[in-house]
Amino acid sequence: MTLMKFPMKWPMLTISLILAAACNGGGRLYKEKMIHDSYGLIKKDAVRVTWMGTAGLYVTDGETGFFIDPFVSRYGLMKVLWGSPLSPQHQTIQDWINRVGCHHADAVIVSHSHYDHALDAPFFALKTGAQLIGSGSTAWIGRGAGLSENQIKIVRGGDRISLGKFEVVFIKSRHSKAVLGRVPWPGEITAPLIPPAAASDYRLGEIFSLFVTHPGSSFVHLGSAGYFEDMFVGMEAHTVFLSIAGREDSQNLLRCTALPLKAKQIIPIHFDNFFKPLDEEATMIWGVDMPEFFETASMVAPDIAVRTMAIGREFLLFQ
Ligand SMILES: [Zn+2]
Repeated sequence: MTLMKFPMKWPMLTISLILAAACNGGGRLYKEKMIHDSYGLIKKDAVRVTWMGTAGLYVTDGETGFFIDPFVSRYGLMKVLWGSPLSPQHQTIQDWINRVGCHHADAVIVSHSHYDHALDAPFFALKTGAQLIGSGSTAWIGRGAGLSENQIKIVRGGDRISLGKFEVVFIKSRHSKAVLGRVPWPGEITAPLIPPAAASDYRLGEIFSLFVTHPGSSFVHLGSAGYFEDMFVGMEAHTVFLSIAGREDSQNLLRCTALPLKAKQIIPIHFDNFFKPLDEEATMIWGVDMPEFFETASMVAPDIAVRTMAIGREFLLFQ
């Protein structure tokens, strides 16, 4: 496998990014818009979701449970940028499995193979017996972690799979130009990726948005703020879990996702600072500009509620 390490200019560019970052009230909005629904009696197969930070979700209807992009092994910015070898933090992974109450999962779905989506995914699969589902690059991450072939499923854009009462459609998507106008770490993984490995070893691979249906309702997960026009034609979704860090244009992002999907609510994800440990309170990553997102959403999509989730707290999505 050809591994491209960080060029030396990265640290300087990153320092510039940090200096350019503004403390702009995003943290206040995050708390103000937080879902505090308490639910008493719910249907047996109600769909519940726990946000695990970044683009990570645990989804269950009580019978079937699956993770999307679970990533809990956080490392500091400088370790990531200098290409330090990163290991999955097994105790933290186990703590999160305990926290969401899922000792057997049916699937771990990976939207793309960047380390903040895929580093921990095969270890969630190993510990819960779940199948790792994602691109060919994600499969090499699974093999490097020691998963057997029958615990790995490779999907392509347009594929659909059933998980109990859930159906998941893998929609070909695009990564946003999240870092200084460029898609970070492009390319494929073509050999077993055995950790510890540098963040830059986790190449993008194919990227999917997930359209997930359950009898009576549906949601979409966008693991990066990239999109294609018309990618959701003919689909409707109650909720869009929308990555907003590194977005290029809020209006276009909303016009190509939540609006055509006729969503009732948008839940922003992947705006938290994932260079801090996950057990700390969520803080905004640099440059995410949460107020601009809320303001644009209120103009472009005034009928769609934009709400935030606390990390690690289960939320009733629909029933
Ligand atoms: Zn990414």
